[in-house]
Amino acid sequence: MFGRSLYAAFAVLAVTAAATGCGGGSDAGASLVDKAKNDKKLVIGVKADQPGLGLRTPDGAFAGFDIEVAKYVAKQLGVEANAITFKETVSANREAFIEQGQVDMVVATYSITDARKEKVSFAGPYFVAGQDLLVRADESGLTGPEALDGKKLCSVAGSTPAQKVKSEYSKEVQLQEERTYSACVDRVLGGQLDAITTDNVILAGYAAQHGGKLKVVGKPFSTEKYGIGLKKDDTTGRKAVNDALEKMFADGSWTQALQASVGASGFALPQAPQLERY
Ligand code: GLU
Repeated sequence: MFGRSLYAAFAVLAVTAAATGCGGGSDAGASLVDKAKNDKKLVIGVKADQPGLGLRTPDGAFAGFDIEVAKYVAKQLGVEANAITFKETVSANREAFIEQGQVDMVVATYSITDARKEKVSFAGPYFVAGQDLLVRADESGLTGPEALDGKKLCSVAGSTPAQKVKSEYSKEVQLQEERTYSACVDRVLGGQLDAITTDNVILAGYAAQHGGKLKVVGKPFSTEKYGIGLKKDDTTGRKAVNDALEKMFADGSWTQALQASVGASGFALPQAPQLERY
């Protein structure tokens, strides 16, 4: 009885999937796994201005923890590091880049959220951060989100921290939304704005980059679970990426990559998180 109704449910699902072509687009339905296996190359969306995480170096290469995670996962899928094209994404265009097929996956301090899951799917999490504040080193009044009253705050359009400020602190604070966090850093260093808000691990990278001029407040007020963004219907791809992450956690590569990329900023390094295999 149970077997038959389950079979019927699957049959309906299969017909629906065939009829809708699994979400539109010319290569809809093609898994990341097949793409990697057949083409032996991948385009991966990453940040280019976040030290320790995703940063374009002067020679045009990319470096940071997200880059190491991307390379490890690609290798598990059969793609060597020199066959990866890293493409810069900013917070606001990550879903669109995945949906339009401009990138095969996104590894870019990308928080897993229900709203984003409407458009893309996520493997992971491979790291857990928390929203925090970055201020000039001589700032003493801005001690946490409760002290934002009358302050000029900077964040990035399309990011979860900007969203949280707009929904929870909009009365107290004047929010300036930039395209990238590095643009925010320039405006705080220049004195036009008082603070930047985003994930603590990102802020730690900027504080280290501008040695002594900026400091992280150190009172995280959200949970940001970083996932690897994939096409919404790519269940096979999500499983393969989760398998790769599990291996990266288990064989010591994850800890090694985190220490090498983020360790220098002084950020307290966490343990690898629990994967969410939904
Ligand atoms: N993790 C947050 C997000 O995905 C903030 C960092 C970012 O904008 O990349 O929105």
